[in-house]
Amino acid sequence: MLDLTYEAPKPKVIAGATSDWELVIGLEVHAQVATKAKLFSGASTQFGAEPNSNVAFVDAGMPGMLPVINEGCVAQAVRTGLGLKAEINLWSAFDRKNYFYPDLPQGYQISQLYHPIVGEGEVLVELGNGTARRVRIERIHLEQDAGKSIHDMDPSMSFVDLNRTGVALMEIVSRPDIRGPEEAAAYVGKLRQIMRYLGTCDGNMQNGNLRADVNVSVCKPGAYERFMETGDFSHLGTRCEIKNMNSMRFIQMAIEYEARRQIALIEDGKEVVQETRLYDPDKNETRSMRSKEEAHDYRYFPDPDLLPLEIEQAWVDDIAASLPELPDAKKARFMSDMGLSDYDASVLTAEVANAEYFEKVAEGRDGKLSANWVINELFGRLKKDDKSIEDSPVSPEQLGKIVGLITKGDISGKIAKDLFEIVYTEGGDPEAIVEERGMRQVTDTGAIEAAVDEVIAANPAQVEKAQANPKLAGWFVGQVMKSTGGKANPAAVNELVLKKLGL
Ligand code: ADP
Ligand code: MG
Repeated sequence: MLDLTYEAPKPKVIAGATSDWELVIGLEVHAQVATKAKLFSGASTQFGAEPNSNVAFVDAGMPGMLPVINEGCVAQAVRTGLGLKAEINLWSAFDRKNYFYPDLPQGYQISQLYHPIVGEGEVLVELGNGTARRVRIERIHLEQDAGKSIHDMDPSMSFVDLNRTGVALMEIVSRPDIRGPEEAAAYVGKLRQIMRYLGTCDGNMQNGNLRADVNVSVCKPGAYERFMETGDFSHLGTRCEIKNMNSMRFIQMAIEYEARRQIALIEDGKEVVQETRLYDPDKNETRSMRSKEEAHDYRYFPDPDLLPLEIEQAWVDDIAASLPELPDAKKARFMSDMGLSDYDASVLTAEVANAEYFEKVAEGRDGKLSANWVINELFGRLKKDDKSIEDSPVSPEQLGKIVGLITKGDISGKIAKDLFEIVYTEGGDPEAIVEERGMRQVTDTGAIEAAVDEVIAANPAQVEKAQANPKLAGWFVGQVMKSTGGKANPAAVNELVLKKLGL
């Protein structure tokens, strides 16, 4: 199999007044686990339900209620870890992170601070032009989500919706390996893609099912390399954390703004204060939310209601055996076995549904031609109608037959487009439609010859011109194609035209 080898991209450099500056970014991505029930209760995780209807007593923090771990959530975290080539910890434990918030009725969040279920892994983030960044994953831990406070429904009251309280999140923490705004967005995109392949998170950012805390610092060229050699964070600048970003575009804009803010501070002789900030998309700026809190501020301690989580290697192995082919492997296979370009293979593996559709079209057929038809014709047409591949009016079997008809020479590429439009709007079997509507390409040289003779006889002036300037012979080919309704085999027409004109 083709090895996807890429060069590391250059870090983003911002020119300040006194020096060039480089960006250093680390992300804490919160991914909602795709499961029916919450992490420690049987309440539903359904999105958009009536407020406070998906709340078990334990989620509401009722006295005496005890959490019970949901095995499905643990399996999903393990699955995600395996998909990110990470170490799985057979022994992990839950801790209480204590703080008050109206949408956190327990008064603490159950998380995994000291012993996360997943350890170190890595993600390959492709950035185009043959470059990709390897971003190391530090850890993934399981934790509860909080509820939602609503402040804008009533002028004098706030509301609390506990539906989200206790829903399982995976917090995926990266090393500070990301070196620019585009890389940060691409990294989130890659995590999203892998989790959607795995079925562990639906990746819906609008609903907040995937969101990121973005840590940004700036340093002078060379400092990051010293950090990488020594592991000493003091070579890096002080970071600020931008909370709860759920849009790829805003992530990039926030990083850009934040980096420039920090550079201006430092060059002005001031210091960057480590703190948590919020991004305001309307003003395109970040604002201080609170000073950086430390683990001890939260009085973390092991949750006495939960035993440490012990899982067996055999169970992990079973999950590993059930993993689907992941995007990198699929893309490499599309390139090596089916002759696709890097770009086409990326487009077709972006979503697993695209890849599955394409593979059915290409089965036993030309890979490149199939890819062209799926990407250019089908995706183009679907986009025009704002449809997704799941509700494509043309099935992969139908599109496969169209591609097959082209390869066999039964129809020309131009007729194939008409045929595609018929199948798209009216449905039907492409092979039968070609027969019924007489769309088959004319390869019979007798018929083509007659058409060529006719055009030549009708245009003596053009004949003279073409004989003086052979480049004009193409005009005859066009006329014959027109008179045969596009059904003549273009190669045969071309050959006959040249012969008859004596060229
Ligand atoms: P906390 O949980 O207090 O936010 P962590 O040590 O877990 O702190 O780090 C959070 C994130 O910050 C990680 O993704 C890490 O890679 C990133 N990070 C750490 N130092 C820096 C830095 N100097 N610049 C940018 N990101 C950083
Ligand atoms: Mg943090």
